Amino acid sequence: MHVKITVFQKGFNYSQDGQGNRLVFHLQGCNMHCPWCANPEGIPTVPPIMVNKDKLLDTACPCGAVRNGELDRSFCEACKDRKCLDSQANLGLSTAGSDWDTDEMVKEAIKCKPMYFDSGGVTFTGGEPTMQFDALMDVYKKLKENGIHTAIETNGTSIRLKELLPFIDQLIIDLKHHDSEKQRAVTGVGNETTKANIEYALKEGKPVLVRIPLVNGFNADKADAEHFADYFESINAPNLSVELLSYHEFGKDKWQKCGMEYTVKDGRLKPGTVKMFEDIFKERGINTIRT
Ligand code: SF4
Ligand code: SF4
Repeated sequence: MHVKITVFQKGFNYSQDGQGNRLVFHLQGCNMHCPWCANPEGIPTVPPIMVNKDKLLDTACPCGAVRNGELDRSFCEACKDRKCLDSQANLGLSTAGSDWDTDEMVKEAIKCKPMYFDSGGVTFTGGEPTMQFDALMDVYKKLKENGIHTAIETNGTSIRLKELLPFIDQLIIDLKHHDSEKQRAVTGVGNETTKANIEYALKEGKPVLVRIPLVNGFNADKADAEHFADYFESINAPNLSVELLSYHEFGKDKWQKCGMEYTVKDGRLKPGTVKMFEDIFKERGINTIRT
């Protein structure tokens, strides 16, 4: 049986998304809407049409959705065949997403085995990889049957994450905020399930790396550092490590290309913020790493 999985980015990186050198698949779709997201093209369930304004011609859409250099996205919502993407000459409209057959994905992962040096393997990230749960489970099982090290980078909000754990060697779970309501107000989803998944995976003995994306005005004050530390102290275990990620704007231009507004105004961290978090975590015996 053919199982489809939608990918919007694929590539190798070293130790950024799990141990060693890794083949990383970014899967389409996310249930959160973090305003600082570096991969906004991965948030919608259907890969969005991306606009390159410098190269956009009014003839780019056979349905007449482009007029005077602007794409009217209301046309695209009901458009099934997306004929604008067929022409190689049309550089003004594109999409990052493509459908894979899970067997083809596993074949590609096996072909890449010589590249997995320093105990590397395959990582699924997103978007939020668990949004394509059944296809993801299918691939993980087949990767493990073929002796490949597996990792996931997830926002941890899937109530089914524990079903995947037997097939995942390394978990990377994002915790956006220590306060569930503050997290929900900004990202659309609270943190209860994420915390429950972190705690379950630690009890199962899985190596768990919790990543906090630090954003000024959201979660980066001294009081936030103390509250995060309170939580990690309460669940501390030898297999827990924490990484602090600094706010950046690498994905900002992609928001516009996808027809979405980038709303973060002043996310950059004040000097010394990461060190302040690291010092507080160290004092509390929390293993904090940099990758
Ligand atoms: S998705 Fe459809 S309506 Fe939108 S630009 Fe492409 S062809 Fe036109
Ligand atoms: S959880 Fe990750 S992929 Fe989803 S919106 Fe937030 S940053 Fe983007």
